Amino acid sequence: MTCYEVVVIGGGPAGLAAAISAYENGCRSILLIERDKKLGGILNQCIHNGFGLHTFKEELTGPEYADRYSRRFYETGADLMLQTTVLDISEDKVIRAINEKDGLVTVKAKAIVLSMGCRERSRGALNIPGTRPAGVYSAGTAQKLVNIDGKMPGKKVVILGSGDIGLIMARRMTLEGAKVLAVVELMPYSGGLKRNIVQCLEDFDIPLYLSHTVTKVEGENRVEAVTVSEVDENRKPIQGTEIRYECDTLLLSCGLIPENELTQGLGASMNKVTNGPVVDSDLETSIPGVFACGNVLHVHDLVDFVSEEASDAGRNAAMYAAAEPRYKVKTKIPVKFSKEIRYTVPSSVVLAGISEDIKLRFRVGNIYRYKKVTALAGDRVLAKKIRKVMTPGEMEEIVLPIGKLKDIKGALEITITVEDND
Ligand SMILES: Cc1cc2nc3c(=O)[nH]c(=O)nc-3n(C[C@H](O)[C@H](O)[C@H](O)COP(=O)(O)OP(=O)(O)OC[C@H]3O[C@@H](n4cnc5c(N)ncnc54)[C@H](O)[C@@H]3O)c2cc1C
Repeated sequence: MTCYEVVVIGGGPAGLAAAISAYENGCRSILLIERDKKLGGILNQCIHNGFGLHTFKEELTGPEYADRYSRRFYETGADLMLQTTVLDISEDKVIRAINEKDGLVTVKAKAIVLSMGCRERSRGALNIPGTRPAGVYSAGTAQKLVNIDGKMPGKKVVILGSGDIGLIMARRMTLEGAKVLAVVELMPYSGGLKRNIVQCLEDFDIPLYLSHTVTKVEGENRVEAVTVSEVDENRKPIQGTEIRYECDTLLLSCGLIPENELTQGLGASMNKVTNGPVVDSDLETSIPGVFACGNVLHVHDLVDFVSEEASDAGRNAAMYAAAEPRYKVKTKIPVKFSKEIRYTVPSSVVLAGISEDIKLRFRVGNIYRYKKVTALAGDRVLAKKIRKVMTPGEMEEIVLPIGKLKDIKGALEITITVEDND
């Protein structure tokens, strides 16, 4: 069986950045396994611009961003298996994968980086009433049809869900000649980035109905109409508010779920809110030597943050494989948070041997204005920031400076609070 120091699973932006970083941190035995025929992951179908503003200080398209990282990856000379799907991983880090050329392949790793991305929530998971005609697509499937296969999924479109993919597809379908009648969002706020609401809906006069949902799909062979209703504060449809749209296509953009089968199969502890694994500040899961990053860990809005996080995961994997003692026995300080916050990544902090600030990423569960976010260890303030507005669609972060962390050895927990900024 071939053995590698570090094996990275998934060749999207997270996997590429992790592999490059493992190399830059001295590892010379790296394998990247990707099930697609090309590196780059979901970025290959995101032909709009807006990628890389933080990393490269310029606006790139998805394929351009992916290309920059792919080139750097190839320069490392790391081993690569394309069109190879990982089937399972054992706790002693034996990876079983399959491809057409070699059949079943087994490799062993000292450290593993999980970077398998995420998938879209399907109609089956949403329980939309009505018939089951053709013409109901996830927004990502429609994006692939239009941008990669050159096929239009329909001409008159309603979009359910205002996540970023739905917003981007509202613009894309309009530019390709379709009429987007409405974007309908169950929640009283959009799940997407503000910039996408402005650039993809408002600029094209596409209406966004908040606190609305699709209550009926009609059509025998193909979608003929959908009914949209307003919902009350319990998200139940309000009778008498129905609007019927004659259309041939319903796109669903109702959330992304980490590709967590391999992670769960491995027996890693899972976070019920993110649907990804629980990780500490080294991005190490509950299985020693298995690290996670990118959308398989928690769904990100900007790819720049995926690359940054994945770089940390790759560096930690390289150091673990090199038998750095700090990974042997870890004291983890749990991160607790107030009710406005849905989750944090990481969910615990490891202080021994840290060499830089620790970035905590989190999402809030509602829209909050003029708030003070504070990170505390007991009554010691580690970091504080004022946020004019925080929304569930935008990931937040707070940086715990290394100087302050070094002073809190023995702390029982770190707490993140959100309070009014009077
Ligand atoms: C439609 C859409 C629009 C977006 N728009 C923007 C934008 O405008 N700006 C921005 O900054 N960000 C945007 N993003 C976000 C950004 O693209 C993602 O955050 C980023 O691609 C996530 O990277 P990843 O590597 O975690 O996942 P992915 O890109 O999904 O890569 C995961 C890879 O893992 C592979 N894989 C999965 N399972 C296995 C397995 N078992 N074996 C082998 N390989 C496997 C997959 O084939 C895939 O290549 C957008 C995302 C989407 C979906």
